[in-house]
Amino acid sequence: MTTTRFAPSPTGHLHVGNLRTALLNFLIARQSDGHFILRIDDTDPGRSQEIYVDSIKEDLEWLGLGWDQIERQSERLDAYLETASHLRNDERLYEAFETPGELELRRKKQRNRGHPPVYDRAALLLSEVEKDKLRAERGEGVWRFKLDRAWITWEDGILGSRSIDASSLSDPILIRRDGQFLYTLASVVDDMEMGISHVVRGADHITNTAVQIQIIKALGGQVPTFAHHSLLTDDAGYALAKRLGTLAIRDFKEQGIAPMAILSLLARLGTSEPVVLASCIDELVEGFDLTHFGSSPTKFDDTQLFQLTGRYLQTLPYTDVSEWIQDQVGVPDSIAETFWYATRNNITTLSDLKAWWTVFRDGAEPLIDPQDTDFVSQAIELLPNGPYDTDTWKTWTDAVQAKTGRKGRALFMPLRKALTGQGQGPDMSTIMPLLHRIKART
Ligand code: GLU
Repeated sequence: MTTTRFAPSPTGHLHVGNLRTALLNFLIARQSDGHFILRIDDTDPGRSQEIYVDSIKEDLEWLGLGWDQIERQSERLDAYLETASHLRNDERLYEAFETPGELELRRKKQRNRGHPPVYDRAALLLSEVEKDKLRAERGEGVWRFKLDRAWITWEDGILGSRSIDASSLSDPILIRRDGQFLYTLASVVDDMEMGISHVVRGADHITNTAVQIQIIKALGGQVPTFAHHSLLTDDAGYALAKRLGTLAIRDFKEQGIAPMAILSLLARLGTSEPVVLASCIDELVEGFDLTHFGSSPTKFDDTQLFQLTGRYLQTLPYTDVSEWIQDQVGVPDSIAETFWYATRNNITTLSDLKAWWTVFRDGAEPLIDPQDTDFVSQAIELLPNGPYDTDTWKTWTDAVQAKTGRKGRALFMPLRKALTGQGQGPDMSTIMPLLHRIKART
């Protein structure tokens, strides 16, 4: 069975970068009727925050990415403890006492000599007496995994055949001085015990993958299929990593971006296929193919989210948005449906509806070009009192044409601008019944 997981650290809100990882894992699981686990990587109590656990869950739910199982690393410490003692017994885990300052100095020396800054395993040479002495002086040490200095190879689900020479890597620290288990170990234990078959994550984890493959093998586990997607960049090609905090899903939600716009974009971004606006998640599942993803950095441009949202909204029937229109925009029930069908082709996000409603309810500041001033006042005199219906526009403009001789655009455009304060918008006949106030006539 295909089992995947999304494993965010609750140190911030869900953003386009980690959502992309979540979505790919979700789609792979759904595609084969598999199992999707949400795993909260919260072994670091100093950085993890409960509000982020809640916000990540809330945002995933808003997007429609439900999970079959939820796990928290902070509740699985016994499992990590057990695995650590297993590795210790097999002499794959050793205690080291160097301070960060000492390590930095050694790395500097190595670099100066033209050597790679790989940990020299000095701790392996310590006798028990020396270790006791260091422990008495410095407290507990860190625990490092003893890598097997050989090439580590795997068939990557996106990058193809990959190999990394373990001799170029330092033995990774799996347990900190204060006993805290680090992600590298915790993730392996979880992936093994939870039967994870596929791990899709960002290319920034490639080295972790090499190390984790060795740990899994040291524990006699089954190595999952690893796949590393490219990282997102901005328009200029710079990594988005630092800006990701500003690309939070909840901010897009706040701006009225539709979940399907976000999901449709992220399911295709970085593939050879065009972005297609899907109407539901099942449609994304059907067309999904991980092998279509490429390895080159992928540009993310949030204007696409607005365009897709606009296109998506145009397809929605009133029933899908009635709650939003009545509760958030404040349109009275009696005209809410008319309001929706009149405006849906002229918005990019649901938030734009608020601006339209303000125009209809309060009236817009008239926009009158100097050469049209007389024409507009003549026309306004011919405008009957409301309420209006869908025939009002035609009757009125016929009368204005008869009186002024203006036709076509020269007739319609100044009137549109006078009534709505802008040169673009929904069909004027559909707008008229919604106009509660016309400032041009008051
Ligand atoms: N908590 C890790 C992260 O957010 C998980 C990486 C992984 O998928 O293994 O980067």
